[in-house]
Amino acid sequence: MTQNKETGWNFDNSYARLPESFFKSVEPTPVHSKELVVLNKSLATFLGLDVNELRSEDGIEVFAGNRIPEGAHPIAQAYAGHQFGHFTMLGDGRAVLLGEHITPSGERLDIQLKGSGRTPFSRGGDGRSTLGPMLREYIISEAMHGLSIPTNRSLSVVATGESVLRETKLPGAILTRVSSSHLRIGTFQYVANWGNVEELRILADYAIKRHFPEIKDNEDRYLALFQEVIKGQAALIAKWQLVGFIHGVMNTDNMTISGETIDYGPCAFMDKYDPATVFSSIDVQGRYAYQNQPAIGQWNLARFAETLLPLLHEKEDHAVELAQEAHSEFEELYHSHWLAGMRRKLGILNEEEQDKSLIEDLLQIMKKHQADFTNTFRALTLDKPEDTVMAGAREFTHWYDQWHERLARQAESKTSAYQLMKNSNPAVIPRNHRVEEALEAAVEKGDYNVMAELMDVLSNPYAYSPEQEEYTKLPEPSNLPYRTFCGT
Ligand code: AMP
Ligand code: MG
Repeated sequence: MTQNKETGWNFDNSYARLPESFFKSVEPTPVHSKELVVLNKSLATFLGLDVNELRSEDGIEVFAGNRIPEGAHPIAQAYAGHQFGHFTMLGDGRAVLLGEHITPSGERLDIQLKGSGRTPFSRGGDGRSTLGPMLREYIISEAMHGLSIPTNRSLSVVATGESVLRETKLPGAILTRVSSSHLRIGTFQYVANWGNVEELRILADYAIKRHFPEIKDNEDRYLALFQEVIKGQAALIAKWQLVGFIHGVMNTDNMTISGETIDYGPCAFMDKYDPATVFSSIDVQGRYAYQNQPAIGQWNLARFAETLLPLLHEKEDHAVELAQEAHSEFEELYHSHWLAGMRRKLGILNEEEQDKSLIEDLLQIMKKHQADFTNTFRALTLDKPEDTVMAGAREFTHWYDQWHERLARQAESKTSAYQLMKNSNPAVIPRNHRVEEALEAAVEKGDYNVMAELMDVLSNPYAYSPEQEEYTKLPEPSNLPYRTFCGT
């Protein structure tokens, strides 16, 4: 470990000590000019870094990829993945892992530059990223953190002053991301396909040591690893569903072993409730629609299981049996997280058999009336059913009465029910038009205040503060559906 006294960077490189086929050593490509346009001060402080030093010439050089901090061993990680169902070799084509920063409390976190130039995995790509999408990733990932949803974090964005050619020339940028690791299902797929069983065992042991040290001495630790990843993903995807988050590109290379959300490309939050919602321009079949996310998660976990088979049991059919049994638990796990979360969203503190149908009835009425997902639960939380578009509809009034009868049947007071709802229903989410407005001000005018105000409001979405009121408003109705893009 090497401590950089001034900034506080404290690097170790355990991944770079793994078998050499797992990565390629590669340095970021230097850029000509650089401007630090966003710095996440609270994250920097949490990491034990000195904000003033990070803002200094030397500090910014690190974020720009122009200077390798002492002790860092930059690499591009190899991985494969199923993209929209098709298996292919991938790897970090425009990201470089500087190394793992060890925080003052001893946490090991990956520090990765995204958009830092070509790597041996770039194929035809330029290895660069553009300012708008990097700011968008910053906003959404930090909003997810505010929502208490496991996610990688965003530490900084540097504008490189270079033009990046997409459909037109766009300003280049580099995002610094912080993750508990970048181990993906796709990492296991890469080693299972192109490595040997010994390498697979090394990777699995590494994942266990890093994310689930409590199972490291289990006799059946590889099965336990699979079960832990299932648990993490079931919990994560339930959290996405409960706030209307649509990831947009749930390829196996974008699904982590840690259970964190990564790869904020074409993601967006649902506005009007429709389970078939898709935002991504390339997802023409709706494979990654809101309603499909749990099943896709489970499909991805089956791909993970396939990679683990040689470690689960020496007899393949027995290994398959073990994997299938564990895999089949996903559905129940996911469902119980979802149901518990929906109960909380409705202020329900105990369990009744009919809760599920009460919840489903509401969702169905919301769908019929195209009610805004976030604002419906916000209105219920504020006890203002009249604020929803469903107000006045007989079916909604009937549902509302039934719900209140349900709340009256639990021992806890309505006050505690409403408090629970306040803690479970975000008052604000990164609404698409607000995100676009912040990006436009930043990219077109160099004005970062709009984004800063948005970030402030999103940092505690459960505050129900007066400042948040303005951010709960819906955009002017538009006939055009919102579209998102990846690989930008
Ligand atoms: P993503 O859609 O971000 O998950 O990326 C899929 C794959 O494409 C990964 O291997 C990326 O590293 C690679 N990739 C995306 N954009 C670029 C780019 N501009 N240059 C090189 N590789 C890229
Ligand atoms: Mg990816």
